[in-house]
Amino acid sequence: MNLKGKTALVTGSTSGIGLGIAKVLAARGANIVVNGFGDAAGPQQEIERAGAAHGIRTAYHGADLSQPAQIEELMAFAQREFGQVDVLVNNAGIQHTATIEDFPPERWDAIIAINLSSVFHTTRLALPAMRKANWGRIINIASVHGLVASAEKSAYVAAKHGVVGLTKVAALETATTGVTVNAICPGWVLTPLVQKQIDALAAKNGISNDEATRQLLGAKEPSQRFTTPEELGELAAFFCSPAGDNIRGVAWNMDGGWVAQ
Ligand code: NAD
Repeated sequence: MNLKGKTALVTGSTSGIGLGIAKVLAARGANIVVNGFGDAAGPQQEIERAGAAHGIRTAYHGADLSQPAQIEELMAFAQREFGQVDVLVNNAGIQHTATIEDFPPERWDAIIAINLSSVFHTTRLALPAMRKANWGRIINIASVHGLVASAEKSAYVAAKHGVVGLTKVAALETATTGVTVNAICPGWVLTPLVQKQIDALAAKNGISNDEATRQLLGAKEPSQRFTTPEELGELAAFFCSPAGDNIRGVAWNMDGGWVAQ
C-alpha cells in the first residue's frame, strides 16, 4: 500500500497518538500537514525522517481547533500547500476529569469544541474535494469512551460518543463514493494526556508512578499494557489501503479488551 502523492492532515500531530499516526502515514509516502500546540519543528523532523525514503514533505499550521475560523484557515492552508487533503485524521483532543457537579462549564465547552465540533468543521471542509476526487479517508480518533463511560469524564465521554455518531452519519452520506469515514477507539495509550491522569492518581493515593500505572491499567485494560501510537498508526494505514475501500462507519476499538468486558 502506497500513499505516495497523497496528503494527510493529522490534527494534534505535535504529540502522542497524532505524531505516531503521522509517522506511519509518512512512512507509506504521504505528505503531512502537521497541526497542534508546542514545539512543531521537532515533530516535523521526526515525521520527515519517517518518510525520508519517499521524499515526503510536511507543512505546519498551528490552528487552535476550538476556533472554527482557524479551522477554515488550516483547511485553506492545506489546500494551498498540497492541492488537497486526501486523508483527514481528526485526532486533536483534551481531557478534564471532575464529577458533573464540579465540572467547570468552560472546560465542558472547550472539550466539546476541540474533541467534537472541530471534527464536524474539518469534515465539512474536507469532503467537497474528496468527493470530487472520488477518493478520501476520514479517520476519527474517538476512544473507548466513545463506546462506554467512566465516571468523572462527562464532557469527554459525551464528545467521544458524539464523534462515533458523527462518523456513522458521514459514512452514510458518502457510502456510494470512494470516500470512507471511520473511527478508531483506543484504550489507554501512554501519552502526555494519560501521564497527567497517572500523576493525579499517584498524588491522590500517595503511590509511585509505577504503582499508579499498574492501578490505571488494572482497572480497565485486560491486556495490562498500553496500546502504542505506532499500532494505532498501522490501523489508520489499513483504513487507507485498498482493503479498506468498503469499511464504512465502524468504531474500531484497539483497547486490550477494555470494551469486551
Ligand atoms: P496528547 O496530549 O499527547 O496530544 C494531543 C494533541 O492535540 C497535541 O498535539 C496538542 O497540541 C493537540 N491539541 C490540543 N488542543 C488543541 C487545540 N485546541 N487545537 C489544536 N491542537 C490541539 O494526547 P493523545 O493522548 O495523543 O490524544 C490524542 C487523541 O487520542 C485525543 O483525541 C484523545 O482523546 C484520544 N485518545 C487518547 C487516549 C490515550 O490513552 N492517550 C485514549 C483514547 C483516545
